[in-house]
Amino acid sequence: MKAPVVPILIGDLWTEPQVSHFTAVHQPSSGEVIARTPMCGSMDVELAVVAGSDAYPDWSRLPAPERGRVLFRYRELLEDHFEELAQLVCRENGKTLEEARGDVRRGIEVVEFAAGIGHLAKGEILPQLADGIDATSTREPIGVCAGITPFNFPAMVPMWMYPLSIACGNTFVLKPSEKVPLTVNRLAELFLEAGLPTGVLNIVHGGREVVEAMCTHPEIAAVSFVGSSAVARRVYELSCLHGKRVQSAGGAKNVLLVMPDAVESAAAAASDPTIQAVMGSAFGCAGQRCMAGSLLMGLGDAAHRLRDQLCAAMDGLTVGDTAADPEAGMGPVIDAGARDRLFTRIQEAPQQDTEVVRDGREGIPDDGFFVGPTLFDGVTPDHGVFTEELFGPLLGMMRPESLDQAIEWINRIPNGNAATIFTRDGGAARRFVREVECGMIGVNLGVPAPMALFSFSGWDQSFFGDLHVQGMEGVMFYTRQKTVLTRWM
Ligand code: NAD
Repeated sequence: MKAPVVPILIGDLWTEPQVSHFTAVHQPSSGEVIARTPMCGSMDVELAVVAGSDAYPDWSRLPAPERGRVLFRYRELLEDHFEELAQLVCRENGKTLEEARGDVRRGIEVVEFAAGIGHLAKGEILPQLADGIDATSTREPIGVCAGITPFNFPAMVPMWMYPLSIACGNTFVLKPSEKVPLTVNRLAELFLEAGLPTGVLNIVHGGREVVEAMCTHPEIAAVSFVGSSAVARRVYELSCLHGKRVQSAGGAKNVLLVMPDAVESAAAAASDPTIQAVMGSAFGCAGQRCMAGSLLMGLGDAAHRLRDQLCAAMDGLTVGDTAADPEAGMGPVIDAGARDRLFTRIQEAPQQDTEVVRDGREGIPDDGFFVGPTLFDGVTPDHGVFTEELFGPLLGMMRPESLDQAIEWINRIPNGNAATIFTRDGGAARRFVREVECGMIGVNLGVPAPMALFSFSGWDQSFFGDLHVQGMEGVMFYTRQKTVLTRWM
């Protein structure tokens, strides 16, 4: 029997679009096909935009506190269905149930933030700007917005976008990753149940054709994108060319720098907070996080201790079927293509004079798309893996001679997403914070991901645009300013 087709949402109708191509949705931990994503076309985008445009006048005129109340109800429903959503994320993405809970939790936090829209979108006033003239500046919605999301956070990344945009008074057309369409559909069902009016949120499934139709559609005012850098740049350029505002977040190559004072002696390995943070950063979500630490720099004698302790911790990490085994410490990667690409990188490493200290092709389950935790040592800035985003549980070790050299190496990486320093030395940490050219910096934190109150502030090849997702930049992105000067007769 064929796996079911994932419906699209136009207005309040869930329908099966008429398409000839489908993408198989796998349960990555077993390889089983659990659904088929219809690869929609520009006609489906057209229908979604019409539904969004029709809904816009009433929704944008609704008082902000009333819009906020719909978000409060949505938040309650998300809490009621929290475990169900986490299990869905785990099933279609492969991350562990605990990681899936984090994915949903981070998304709910954006809904909580967005529910305060009446306060967030308040304007400014200056009485007596000139003699007898008062000035007010308000933030107004912008129209129909579009969102395009990646596979690695099926709940959180879509929720970076549509709750805030909708709270601001816009309507929305969302295209989730064709690899993980199920969570988004469930999230939308709950939003409708919370009382969201027809047409305020629409969902179209598919790939490039849908994305290009969104970036070029004259009725779409703004495009939010999260995905790999090459596509992020393309979406940015195409949408700008068509007169839209764009926020387009790309890929990453994040560094974890460990100073000698941050790793304990071998006896303390199991509980060493630095080792635990490095493990979580590099191998959490099977390394498929834009915030994943992918290069580990050990300074001075930190390097040997780090390597020994890390190997011990890696040997204790259980890789398994996250959908069936709640004890599994790490799940699979998203699909066979990702697994094969990562296996190739491991196979090529010795040709680049890189030592494969732990080989993720060994000791993994037969079924599903598994890659075990892998450690390369001897990576230098000349190696391909120094800049390539591997997006899997592959960690490259580097040995800079000084803090200066570490910072210089980090600043050579074209992405500017995240970097972390582990140290007890406030002076070293301060230099790192000041001099590293990345938009998100951690001090003794493996994953310095801003939560909903702050923007996700990548730089350089990790972000194309001006206003980032989430936080106050998110509010500014989804609203435009109106300034009124008044003189009473
Ligand atoms: P991807 O770029 O392959 O896909 C992202 C979205 O773009 C999907 O919806 C996909 O259907 C669409 N798409 C793919 N190819 C396209 C094309 N040629 N033209 C138009 N649209 C296209 O990314 P992915 O593999 O789903 O996700 C992983 C990437 O996302 C990684 O690079 C990761 O770092 C990045 N990411 C970044 C952030 C961030 O905040 N910077 C957050 C999460 C993920």
